[in-house]
Amino acid sequence: MFELPEAMVLTRQMNEHLCGKVIEDGSLGNSPHKFAWYNRSEAEFRSLIKGKKIGKAWTKGRWMIIEVGSAHHLVFGETGGSLILHRDLSTIPEKYHFLLRFSDHSALTLKIQMWGAMELFDAGDELNRAYIRDMAPTPLDEEFSRQYFMDLVKKLCSSGKRSVKSLLTQEQIIPGLGNSCAQDIMFVSGQHPRKDLASLSQRELNLLHDSILRIVNQIIELGGRNDESDLFGNKGRYQRIMDAAAVGMPCPKCGESVQKIQYLGGACYFCPNCQNL
Ligand SMILES: [Zn+2]
Repeated sequence: MFELPEAMVLTRQMNEHLCGKVIEDGSLGNSPHKFAWYNRSEAEFRSLIKGKKIGKAWTKGRWMIIEVGSAHHLVFGETGGSLILHRDLSTIPEKYHFLLRFSDHSALTLKIQMWGAMELFDAGDELNRAYIRDMAPTPLDEEFSRQYFMDLVKKLCSSGKRSVKSLLTQEQIIPGLGNSCAQDIMFVSGQHPRKDLASLSQRELNLLHDSILRIVNQIIELGGRNDESDLFGNKGRYQRIMDAAAVGMPCPKCGESVQKIQYLGGACYFCPNCQNL
């Protein structure tokens, strides 16, 4: 799944390589998928995009928003898989869930992995969409300051028990983060996934905030994670520290064997020595 850094890498590439292209035609896919979310019929979609020029693209959490002409915004969100700009039509995959063909004979396809939204809004209406509406500040927003983070943690702890992993992955508390970014954030900040958030000292909270910013920015600088692809199908250069391949291997800090647990709807990889409960 694309998390905030991958969405950012993709929209940056769109601004460089997609912006200005004129749409000749498109399609909402040739392969039905139970979890592909559209908000237009095929006919409506095609008539709205025809002849329109692609404008700027930007990221909001795990959502990518792209100007289509002056009146519409194309939205890809909560998705993962292959979002690829093809230099010509020869590399278009057999099955895809979204396609744009451009007047210069290039094309954009999205083949979703598990699920994903591919929706076309009247410009601005996407702000009323669930998940985008009322989105809290993301780690790339200026508002995501130390003070904001401390207030957020305080508010969460006053309304019930919550773990570190829950803060990082649940309910879009920190929009854009997901199970992948969270693993390395917990490792570099020395926090166990199940650790009670209320038990963290000021110093630990500072380190957790720093680690969120550090990991997100590092992944962006390196063009995404090594298990995700960019707009040209190239794997990112950020090597995940704590992932499935790390299980049983020595922790890069202390040499202890990395362990795996299932917790909060996904696997967690952690060092039992560096990440104490
Ligand atoms: Zn360790």
